[in-house]
Amino acid sequence: YNIVDPTRKIHHMIDRAKLAENSISSDRGADYAVCDEKMSSEYVSQRLLISELDNALQKGEFQPYYQPVVDAKTGEIVSAEALIRWKHPEKGMISPGQFIPIFEKEGHITKIDSFMANRIFDFNLNRVKNGKKAIPCAINLSRVDFYDTKFMNMMKQKLGDQENVKNILKLEVTESSYTLLETEAVSFLEQVKKLGISLMLDDFGSGVSSLSTIENFEFDIIKLDMGFVAQIGKSAKGEAIIKHVIGLFHDLGAKVVAEGVETKEQLEFLLSVDCDMIQGYYFYKPMPEEEFVKLL
Ligand code: C2E
Ligand code: CA
Ligand code: CA
Repeated sequence: YNIVDPTRKIHHMIDRAKLAENSISSDRGADYAVCDEKMSSEYVSQRLLISELDNALQKGEFQPYYQPVVDAKTGEIVSAEALIRWKHPEKGMISPGQFIPIFEKEGHITKIDSFMANRIFDFNLNRVKNGKKAIPCAINLSRVDFYDTKFMNMMKQKLGDQENVKNILKLEVTESSYTLLETEAVSFLEQVKKLGISLMLDDFGSGVSSLSTIENFEFDIIKLDMGFVAQIGKSAKGEAIIKHVIGLFHDLGAKVVAEGVETKEQLEFLLSVDCDMIQGYYFYKPMPEEEFVKLL
């Protein structure tokens, strides 16, 4: 990073230098990079999003979208994944891919995940209060969440208070965060399981998947990554892997959800290999709460 303005804060300069570094970290051919205008302006817009977060949360600009998960055999809605959306007053709808990684890196993700957990608790407790059935909804957790004792205590307290309302929340954890977990977080996961929360291993099969993760911890549900599903009809090897991985998970006592199912052909193959649940555009896209409740 070339210092153009010496009055700029040093950590902002270092952050920009890091952006340059990140821009080549996956490119083995490049030995160095310099922060350019584009990176610099990207950095500024990232800072802007971060500075807007608290205010946006307070003003209700964030909301969960629900993507139904169906029983593979009957097509009946059995749960949903809650995915965050940001209705930005100027930028319009911002998808999580544009802000989750930034908030994650900057240590703000727990605010988002805490908001989502609370929304799901309220959603289901309200349903139960009105004599309706609770629909178990999954929220996505980030690795950082496990180190936030306030967040963890809030979850424990909310769930502990609801002895009679079981199965309202599920937690999705990715493998990369799971393998980096320390004993403390693992013990947290074991505690939440006791509170009746299902644990789901998200994105299985994306990037590095290691069987030791599933050997060392009991997940209730495994989510097959979209990358796997996309191989159906295209790669005989891919199909063989899906078939045997599902068998393996069943032997380990877990249920399997296939994510990113978009075609009839994919659904039919998944049914033939005994996949339990399906999530994907073939059935439903993520939708606002009002739309979701109409389906129930
Ligand atoms: P994910 O957990 O793997 O969520 C699945 C993503 O795939 C969602 O994208 C969903 O809209 C999309 N999807 C579902 N079905 C299909 C399909 O059939 N085809 C295709 N092409 N895509 C499909 P979305 O909502 O943009 O979320 C992206 C990622 O952002 C999520 O990936 C998750 O890692 C993260 N995320 C979303 N909400 C939260 C949150 O509240 N907290 C945290 N920590 N992360 C979140
Ligand atoms: Ca997920
Ligand atoms: Ca996923």
